[in-house]
Amino acid sequence: MTAVVQTVLGPVEASRLGVVLSHEHVLVSFGDHFHYPWLFDWERTKARVVEELQEAKAGGVDTLIDLTTPDLGRDVAFVREAARASGVNVVVATGIWRDIPRSFWTRDPDEIADIFVREIEVGIGDTGVKAGVIKVANDAGGVTPEGERVLRAAARALKRTGCPISTHQWAPERVGARQVEIFREEGAPMDRICIGHSADTTDVDYLESLLRAGVFLSMDRYPGAPGRPDWRQRNATLKALIERGWADRLMVGHDYAPQPVRAGAADVPRERPTRYLFLRTVALPALAADGVDPDIIERIQREVPRRFLTGAS
Ligand SMILES: [Zn+2]
Repeated sequence: MTAVVQTVLGPVEASRLGVVLSHEHVLVSFGDHFHYPWLFDWERTKARVVEELQEAKAGGVDTLIDLTTPDLGRDVAFVREAARASGVNVVVATGIWRDIPRSFWTRDPDEIADIFVREIEVGIGDTGVKAGVIKVANDAGGVTPEGERVLRAAARALKRTGCPISTHQWAPERVGARQVEIFREEGAPMDRICIGHSADTTDVDYLESLLRAGVFLSMDRYPGAPGRPDWRQRNATLKALIERGWADRLMVGHDYAPQPVRAGAADVPRERPTRYLFLRTVALPALAADGVDPDIIERIQREVPRRFLTGAS
């Protein structure tokens, strides 16, 4: 049987995923465009997103794992149009980011899992679009009680469906270690879990302790932001992990979303090439120049995410 991955345009054979970025977004509005639609110029937003995705596709990016949850303003109808117009495969997410709905604070984790499972097996809303990944998030300050509920629910939804989990962690505080601990308590298969934003730390020993638990790491947020590791430091951490033998557990991404265009705003010149191509145009060529085997660089973009998404070996 050929493994398939659910995307916003339906199932895609895993062998056709090509180059996959591990943690991206197509549109992040935190829901403002649903609630306050007059704030946005919808047509220009759409045009801009499509243009950047087309450019990404032409630059060799075939698939995005789009980790946009309801609290980040997930809009699968928008993403479906953008995927269709650009030819980029987009895997969309169930789960919840940092703004956990108040209704979840007292909801039983099994009932939260039911919600995630519905979005994986039946679809998101009435779109028929099935989620291909479960997103969870815990930030500075660590895992809150309601955050723990969501982690346990995600682990249970993974066990029920086989749909993988991808996390947001605040790596400088080693929040991923607590995520791993909770997933372990739930008996979740660790080889279907990715601990994200892991390049926000340069602590290779910490990252290796996560990898020893059997998870994948998303080395993302390239090219970095002020006060956090820059892209060269991210590359150095990635290279150190590859040298320690972990290439088969590492993926890369930018955690990028094109900015929604505000109503009445003047045209702001955008970054060129699109941020979706920073890894392929700058960081990964530099990694190769630094002596990392080009076959390994291909593997972390193609084979590793394919295994993460499908569970195939
Ligand atoms: Zn993100």
